[in-house]
Amino acid sequence: MIIIDGSEGEGGGQVLRTALSLALLTGRAFRMENIRANRSRTGVMRQHVTAVEAACAIGGAECEELKVGASELVFTPGKVKSGEHRFAVGTAGSTSLVLQTLLPPLMLADSPSRLVLEGGTHNIHAPPFDFIDRVFLPLINLMGPRVSARLVRPGFYPAGGGRIEVDIGPVARLGRLDLLDRGDRRRVEARALITGIPGEIAVREIATVRKVLGWGEESCRIVQLPQEVGPGNILLLEAEFEGLTEIVSGFGKLGVPAETVAQKAAKRMAGYLASDAVAGPYLADQLLLPMALAGGGSFTTVKPSLHSRTAAEVIARFLDVAIRFEPLDNGVHKVIVES
Ligand code: AMP
Repeated sequence: MIIIDGSEGEGGGQVLRTALSLALLTGRAFRMENIRANRSRTGVMRQHVTAVEAACAIGGAECEELKVGASELVFTPGKVKSGEHRFAVGTAGSTSLVLQTLLPPLMLADSPSRLVLEGGTHNIHAPPFDFIDRVFLPLINLMGPRVSARLVRPGFYPAGGGRIEVDIGPVARLGRLDLLDRGDRRRVEARALITGIPGEIAVREIATVRKVLGWGEESCRIVQLPQEVGPGNILLLEAEFEGLTEIVSGFGKLGVPAETVAQKAAKRMAGYLASDAVAGPYLADQLLLPMALAGGGSFTTVKPSLHSRTAAEVIARFLDVAIRFEPLDNGVHKVIVES
């Protein structure tokens, strides 16, 4: 049994999700202790319980001591069951984080799957649906699987009620991916999604983006979502290159001025555009597991986050791979995954 100290490194939910995916893929059980021990509310939260329950359901697995607030759990995987699965992630829990857990075992299963996930689709501290659809999945598909996602209905915190559907055509083995050059820039786009709050918030976000990034009017859109999915607001800044697309998001929050939300996101996009890095900080931590499963891969990124370093450590507990972070020039790092 693999013993993992859940408080080490970044010490958040990603440690648990990565371990769940790897346990299902390798058939190895784990015990995780001190789960989220350094967070203000320690132990597993509702959304983590859903991820574990979902992993149990698709993996014929058993989990002892699973309840909200638990600081320790034992996860014993069984055989992965592809096919159709539906999970509701609390009211507004992130559907993309549940997908992050289930996709690796299902994209290497022996037959296709369809996932229906209900909850939040644009949650803070999680990949927004658009990031999954346009940034992450196109790269996964380059590795061989055929994965497509549909946003049936958006869901924002706290109302939730969102729904995504994901079709997964698996492969026996993932192909290697090397992302060392993002290629020429094709287009940029800013979209302010808004519902149930004054429209001028989106107008101010777009005005701030245009000021900071100098993007033309033709590259900026306000998307008014149906009233019943709100309230909610997210600003999505997208840059499409020959080799990949990057999306930086700004999450609207009560009490935080629209200009502050937009300025922070726009400055992060400006930093990405000015660098030569291929992967942004979030994509970087999300690429490590697929590349490790492929047995190798590489990419350049900005300074590796604690999330990335922690994911690399958890992966090395289950798989015989080495993940190295090598500084290059100008703050860019090369990440090399080798078996
Ligand atoms: P954790 O904080 O441990 O629950 O992990 C959060 C996960 O969501 C990580 O894999 C992050 O890369 C990802 N994530 C968080 N915020 C964003 C964002 N704005 N865009 C894309 N991915 C994100």
